[in-house]
Amino acid sequence: MPEHLSETLHFTKNWQQQLAEAFNNIEGLCHYLHLSLHDLPVSVAAAKSFPLRVPLSFAASMQKGNPDDPLLRQVLPVKDELLAYPGFSNDPVGDLPSATKTGVLHKYHGRVLFINTGSCAINCRYCFRRNFPYSDLQLGKQDEHAGIRYIQENPDITEVILSGGDPLLLSDARLAKIFVQLSAIKHLKRIRIHSRLPIVLPARITDDLINTLTQCGKQVVIVAHCNHANEINPRVITAFNLLRNKGITLFNQSVLLKGVNDNVAVLCELSEQLFSHGIIPYYLHLLDKATGTGHFEVSETVATDLIKQVQATLPGYLVPKLVIELPGALSKQVIL
Ligand SMILES: *Cc1c(COP(=O)(O)O)cnc(C)c1O
Ligand code: SF4
Repeated sequence: MPEHLSETLHFTKNWQQQLAEAFNNIEGLCHYLHLSLHDLPVSVAAAKSFPLRVPLSFAASMQKGNPDDPLLRQVLPVKDELLAYPGFSNDPVGDLPSATKTGVLHKYHGRVLFINTGSCAINCRYCFRRNFPYSDLQLGKQDEHAGIRYIQENPDITEVILSGGDPLLLSDARLAKIFVQLSAIKHLKRIRIHSRLPIVLPARITDDLINTLTQCGKQVVIVAHCNHANEINPRVITAFNLLRNKGITLFNQSVLLKGVNDNVAVLCELSEQLFSHGIIPYYLHLLDKATGTGHFEVSETVATDLIKQVQATLPGYLVPKLVIELPGALSKQVIL
């Protein structure tokens, strides 16, 4: 079957099937992109410690034959990951131990992260999650109860942020159960979801899911994660339209990544594209200094300069806040 026809067929499958058929090895992805393994700095060892994982919907937006494609760079296991960089460690934000008991991470005033899964649909090479056997840490029902109880017993919590991993990888039934329990908590005003699925697996955004999100009686906010305008394809746009038309507030956060989006024109185009589909640029994160990610680092000086140039180009509401996460801080630290 011609490639475009088999892709069209693939995108009619449900999200679970698309997830099951995601690329999971370097050879398969390179073949699809018409790239020769010999021309790429790939590393089998890097892929062994943190496997390649990328849904076709995301890979289809990569440019065939381009070894430097900005989307490919986010997912391809490369030799640079094996280099040690000073200041890079396995738990740069100091989070993980505290999150494992109840799934609740309460560091900032009024809002908590509530983590119910460590799984993701895509493995982003720059992610701190790469250093943890995180998906072994699937929290069971027992933990979920403990997390809900913690939120019930702390009336100063007004916003719960479902995070992960990717919370939208939970089944509809599991999400519905969490939403029902959260909606019964009077002091909660908002439920926020941090997810990369609208971008990497837009088929996840189904009517059933949206009903679950919107019937809870709380305001719902989704913070997507898109790093480059090329990630916004027609399937992604459809998913965002569905969400927006049901009154869900949409923001985006990006990570500033060398060789992906460390460029004024690329950052401006990302903001423009996001906003044209109703998504407000929220944060541009400096990289968390996780082992294996040093080659993605953009220095604070260069980052500041980039954002100043974006500010000089775009209206203020299209400029994301440049932020860094520091252990022990009471919020993200805004650099500019
Ligand atoms: C990032 C983060 C939040 C959300 O912060 P906002 O500034 O509200 O987006 C909340 N809790 C923790 C632990 C976080 O890391
Ligand atoms: S947590 Fe986010 S950045 Fe990390 S691998 Fe999952 S989707 Fe990518």
